[in-house]
Amino acid sequence: MITPSPRVRIAPSPTGTFHLGTARTALFNELFARHLGGQFVLRFEDTDQERSTLESEQDIVDGLAWLGLIADESPTAGGSYAPYRQMERLDDYRQAAERLIASGHAYYCFCTAEELAAERQAQEAAHISPKYSGRCRSIPPTEAAERKSAGEPAVVRFKVTGGSRSFTDLVMGTVAEDTDLYGDFVILRSVEAGEPPLPLYNLANVVDDQAMAITHVIRGADLLPSTIKQIMLIEALGGTPPAYAHLPVILSPSGKGKMSKRRDPVSITRDFRDRGYLPEAMINFMALLGWAPEGEREYFSHTELVEAFTLERVNKANAVFNPAKLEHMNGHYIRTLSVEALSERLQPFLRRDSQTFAALPPVEQRALAQQLAEVLQDRLIRLDEAVGLGAWLIEAEVQPPANLLLGKKQTASEAGLMLQAAHAALAEEADWSEPNLEALLRNVAAAQAVGAGAVLWPVRAALTAQAASPGVFTVLSALGKEPSLARLKNAIDILAE
Ligand code: GLU
Repeated sequence: MITPSPRVRIAPSPTGTFHLGTARTALFNELFARHLGGQFVLRFEDTDQERSTLESEQDIVDGLAWLGLIADESPTAGGSYAPYRQMERLDDYRQAAERLIASGHAYYCFCTAEELAAERQAQEAAHISPKYSGRCRSIPPTEAAERKSAGEPAVVRFKVTGGSRSFTDLVMGTVAEDTDLYGDFVILRSVEAGEPPLPLYNLANVVDDQAMAITHVIRGADLLPSTIKQIMLIEALGGTPPAYAHLPVILSPSGKGKMSKRRDPVSITRDFRDRGYLPEAMINFMALLGWAPEGEREYFSHTELVEAFTLERVNKANAVFNPAKLEHMNGHYIRTLSVEALSERLQPFLRRDSQTFAALPPVEQRALAQQLAEVLQDRLIRLDEAVGLGAWLIEAEVQPPANLLLGKKQTASEAGLMLQAAHAALAEEADWSEPNLEALLRNVAAAQAVGAGAVLWPVRAALTAQAASPGVFTVLSALGKEPSLARLKNAIDILAE
């Protein structure tokens, strides 16, 4: 028998920003599909009309593109199972609901909100866990159809047959549930007359997965509780359930709860892309949120992940988001870039965050970005730090506060003397290479009978006006002779005031 190549999907509801959890799900689906030569589909579950927005769709599309997770089929790319937006497939859900009614698996329910509330209250008062009583089950189908066509508001409910059900999840193992705990659930709700009825999540989800020939449903463990309902629906519709793999929950850094939209960085575009994380680092980092490679190895390119990824190595245990690890990885990936590549990636951030940089003509922007890449590559953790760490190189002038110019236990006049000595020696020097500058400033310190730091600190602070920056010789060489001398002079004046 030929095993059909797998078809997997992500089915985000476009109701907010592209969330880290959704991105991790997208990655695992994509890796699974690519590893096995299958298809990776993007479908928008946008039936919650109040909360679904096109901005959210765009945010998801942009975030996926940035991460390099390219769906084979999607609302934008199209595909043989189009359309890929649920609001464009409403007829399918209505037809599926009608088939379920016809086969006796579902029925119209005419209970009003007040009746349902009263029922729930009575159950709560009797200390029974609330569930729909199934009252409308007994309405004869012909009568129900008549009431429906006469315009009486109705929803469609699925008949839960009860008893214990279970399935084997590829990650979580055996999952069992007592279906007597929940009542007949709504699969289609009524809307204004004349408009197509809207499906509820479970119905639309399974109708699409069946129609789109999805073979494996790989999604967050938060969706585990709906899976048995979905399996019952699929079976009632005469289909075969896909394989399921529920991914461990991502916990917030404290380890105490799920990642929180308010407290934690969760937006792929806003909190990660726009803050200067590299997509390479995000992909590598997210892969380790629930997947455990063989051995101790931590660093994987996207291609290497495709090669190595299997669902067998996905953990059941929750994954904890560790921001320090992400920063470390990001720094690592920044250091693997060529200077040219880093300079390309820095430019949008420099243009966005520095008016001085943005005002430069394009050729000068490129030259400056290249220089910044050279001097900052070994200390950047995120791309958006370059504006701050490189301000001394971007701005024409700097104004160090007097106290920053003082080396350890130095007075203003001592620091001033060191700056003057350094200025005098540097002014005479023609060879501006780093090793030569180093030898020269060390000689200055020796001649003044002080430790090297007593000269190097005030000089570096004078040139950068920053407490942290690349080393003084790198700074001198990057600035060039005249600007360096001018800054030393300026600092001498500041200390003399
Ligand atoms: N639309 C669902 C959600 O965004 C996902 C459904 C699924 O992956 O099965 O939570």
